[in-house]
Formats: sequence, structure tokens, C-alpha cells
Amino acid sequence: MDCQTARTHLSAYIDWALARPTRQRLDTHLGTCPECLDELTQLETAIAWVRDLPPVEPSPAFLQRVYERIERLRTSIPLRLLHPLTGTVPSSHSAATPQPSTESADA
Ligand SMILES: [Zn+2]
Repeated sequence: MDCQTARTHLSAYIDWALARPTRQRLDTHLGTCPECLDELTQLETAIAWVRDLPPVEPSPAFLQRVYERIERLRTSIPLRLLHPLTGTVPSSHSAATPQPSTESADA
């Protein structure tokens, strides 16, 4: 595996999203290429920094604009036009409307 190919796979490598043969080839490359190993370390560090950032609460005004935009999109696309594309029977509820969980709390 060359460096250019290795670097395109680094994010998937971190996410354990590579197929085993690709991961093994990348592991082999990382064992012999300090530059790509350094790139991997920098990417992992950046991900850790972002992960550790405090969550940001959206302002009520921002949330209101998002909800309004979702509602405009929901009502601007007739479900009867989507039906042939999705192959599903449109429900009476929009997919944009959060539905309560139907999972049982039984343990
Ligand atoms: Zn390399």
C-alpha cells in the first residue's frame, strides 16, 4: 500500500470500518512508514480534542428556525410523489417528526 492510499483509509481505520484485508495492509504500511503513522496519531489527537469539547446547546431561536425549515420541507414534498421512490406506504406521520420509542423497558 502506498502513502496516498494509506492516508485515504486512516479515518476508516480509526473507526474500525475497513475490511480485514485492507486493515491488514494498512497495518503493514503503518509498521514501516513513520510519516503515515504520524498522520494517524495527529488524526486521532484531533478526534480526541473534538470529542472532548463541551456540548453546545442551540439557542431557542436557532431551534425554531430548524423546526420551521423541517416543516416547510415536510409539507412541500407530496408523499404521493415519494411513494414510488421509497417503495413504502407513506405513514400518516412524517419521517421528520420524531416518534416515541416503541422499545419495551422490560428486562
Ligand atoms: Zn506512508
